[in-house]
Amino acid sequence: MKTTAWLTIFVCWMAVLAVPGIAAPVDTNLVWKAGVASVVITPRTNMWMAGYAARKKPSDGIAQDLFAKALALEDEKGSRVVIVTMDLIGVLQSVRQSVEKKVEERHKLPPSYLLLNASHTHCGPEYRPRSGREQESTDYQAFLEERLLRIIGEALSRLQPAKLQKAHARCGFAMNRRRNYLLPADDPNSKKAPNPDGFVDHDVPVLMVQGTGTNLIAVLFSYACHNTTLSAVSMTNNIPRYEFTGDYAGYAQETLQAGRPGLTAMFLNGCSADQNPYPRHFMIPYVKPLEFAQHHGRTLAYSVEAAMAAHVRPVRGSVRAALEYVTLERENKDSKKETPSRQYPVQVIRFGDDLTIVALGSEVVVDYSLRLKRDLSGKAIVFVAGYSNDYPGYIPSLRVLKEGGYEAPDYKPVIEDRIVTKVHELHDRLSQ
Ligand SMILES: [Zn+2]
Repeated sequence: MKTTAWLTIFVCWMAVLAVPGIAAPVDTNLVWKAGVASVVITPRTNMWMAGYAARKKPSDGIAQDLFAKALALEDEKGSRVVIVTMDLIGVLQSVRQSVEKKVEERHKLPPSYLLLNASHTHCGPEYRPRSGREQESTDYQAFLEERLLRIIGEALSRLQPAKLQKAHARCGFAMNRRRNYLLPADDPNSKKAPNPDGFVDHDVPVLMVQGTGTNLIAVLFSYACHNTTLSAVSMTNNIPRYEFTGDYAGYAQETLQAGRPGLTAMFLNGCSADQNPYPRHFMIPYVKPLEFAQHHGRTLAYSVEAAMAAHVRPVRGSVRAALEYVTLERENKDSKKETPSRQYPVQVIRFGDDLTIVALGSEVVVDYSLRLKRDLSGKAIVFVAGYSNDYPGYIPSLRVLKEGGYEAPDYKPVIEDRIVTKVHELHDRLSQ
């Protein structure tokens, strides 16, 4: 067809659109509603920082602001879910309990439909109560809660027609940080970590949210890797600095947002307990740790872009969620230091048969991610998040428990079965 013929069709179509009473064609894929909000949660004053016990003094600057972000989604029947991500070390139980109660009162959102996830940055504030620093913790928790409630309210108030799509890709900088327990003890490599042959989950699941325009308004993505590219002391011009940053996850979000105006990029940390980013800290003499964090951030952002350029599929159905607690008991081998059993949160959010988010509390080893993705994927893209809704320390699998080591506190061996069985139970219950 000649160019003039195409031009005629285009002009006629524009004329049809311009006639009063004849609306533009409705995008039938806009069956969801979505609202997004974001707020800075960088402490307003210098605070002690979380994650590295070696630090000798509080923060003294900001390399990058920390954010909390909320994504509200509503299906065709009016069922709503809110996902909150934060550039913080973890989600304290006290914060979760207070926020879920107020959100239920104000917005009639059941706790099972609220997910709180932390990026586990080791360059954020230490806001757990510490001896002599109780007021600092109380003040920051109050500040954080006010901001979380604000963005959750804003996201819900901004619900607009939206299209949801899913995709996934791969990203390779996470390596298993444990030593190789399969090698015989007399092998010189058996004591060395990281382990390039150890288990990893390099999957990058992505949920894309598009509003009525052509641009994306939100992207939720996940990766299983500790947010610890930076060491306790990040050197700038050889001067020790204690600066707040979101580490690689902060730079991944920043990269995506810088390239896509109007986008809110949200990082959901995965099962990262035994995964570290490499290289990191001062491993390469001619690269500053902050450059590694920015580099890994860009690498992860580009993996998200790769996912969105690859096999993108729609997310349909309705949203259903469940949150229950399982009891995790300790062996208490050291009778002098008894650790009580813990009520541990297991949350499953299903978007029909197309997408599933499993959200587990605290620092979960990667075995859970690999097992649950294998069990539940089917047609769905599956996110398996750790660092969600609670922060009680490391959660080992049965394998890691048998091996021992840093990520293996003395839970009873039933731990893996108890958590996985609960995930399956909730997932089956939510099938539609
Ligand atoms: Zn950790």
